[in-house]
Amino acid sequence: MENHLVLYELDKMMRQWRHHLHRNPEFGFEEEATARFVTQRLREFGIEDIETAVGNTGVVATLRLGNGDRTIALRADMDCLKIHETTNLPYSSEKPGFMHACGHDGHTTILLGTAAVLASEGGFDGTIKFVFQPAEEWGQGMKAMIRDGLGSRLPFDEIYGLHNKPGLPVGSFEVRPGPFMGAEDGFRIVVSGQGGHASRPHDCRDAILCACSIVSELQTIVARAIDPSELAVVSVTSIKGDNIKNAIASEAIVEGDCRHFDDSVSLRIEETMNRIAEGIANAHGCSIEVKYDRVFIPLVNDVHATEHALKAAEVVFGPEKTNPDAPRMGASEDFAQALRIAPGAFVNIGNGDSAPLHSPGYDFNDDALAQGVKWFVELVRNRLPVTSSQ
Ligand SMILES: [Zn+2]
Ligand SMILES: [Zn+2]
Repeated sequence: MENHLVLYELDKMMRQWRHHLHRNPEFGFEEEATARFVTQRLREFGIEDIETAVGNTGVVATLRLGNGDRTIALRADMDCLKIHETTNLPYSSEKPGFMHACGHDGHTTILLGTAAVLASEGGFDGTIKFVFQPAEEWGQGMKAMIRDGLGSRLPFDEIYGLHNKPGLPVGSFEVRPGPFMGAEDGFRIVVSGQGGHASRPHDCRDAILCACSIVSELQTIVARAIDPSELAVVSVTSIKGDNIKNAIASEAIVEGDCRHFDDSVSLRIEETMNRIAEGIANAHGCSIEVKYDRVFIPLVNDVHATEHALKAAEVVFGPEKTNPDAPRMGASEDFAQALRIAPGAFVNIGNGDSAPLHSPGYDFNDDALAQGVKWFVELVRNRLPVTSSQ
């Protein structure tokens, strides 16, 4: 990375790769062309140990140098969102209804750039695993890769990943040790009563009325069942009945979403929700079925790995642009699954004054590409140092 001409050329190439990926977004587990593009570039850098189709469309490339027995994994996500792009950029999505609205085109490009630098310049002793994961957006990709051998057949000692953050200036970095991003749990409560003529409520068991009581009482979970020092959200986002105006509903479906930063909070929410729903259903003479799903688990950064991430960031971004105490984020991230199998850290790099993530006017900021590469390279060289005896 000392060679400015090399970095300048790489930066130009990365912008082209990023625009190519942006034009050709692919949804979770459909990243066939993206995985092919990634594999082709990695081969051009001389990396031959590449495993494809890890967790459907994931790619894991391995680069070894020296005798070091430690392995550092670096991860990028490849999938897009089902959003129709409105940026009018010359490299806008060519697939209507699909776009890279979360910057995974940028993350994939940064990891490719990192592989290019480390494959050509070395400067480390040990093994690097470049992990290109599918289906981050719906929280299935990392689990699929782990099921397929990531972390076991394809082992590593530490793992790191990054995300761009709109609103944070380009050239800035932030991270936080411990719980950093929220978990997302989904719930669906089906209330079954007895429908009937709207003029004869006494002959019915009104599922809508019962569901409304449940919705009100669910508001007490955070207020009365969760330790006030914990952060939690329980949101009812949908309620549906039989949709017949002159009939009392026989069934009502209440759905919603919960956020928190701790598994024990999730268990407490589920347990309290079941108790409330069953109690109220009993009182109304209705029956109930509660389905509670854990879609995303909380993202918890390892304390030591966070220190390593910060040390590299202070070199690349400068101490004044490196925030070690970033606020917790309610949004969720599939990288959390990787942090359950090895210590590591997930960090944010600035995307500047862009539209928010997941909005149709969003675009990854190309000026952040080189920053991401420099951080990954510095981190790897710190974690896999070349000792003077070699
Ligand atoms: Zn996203
Ligand atoms: Zn994302």
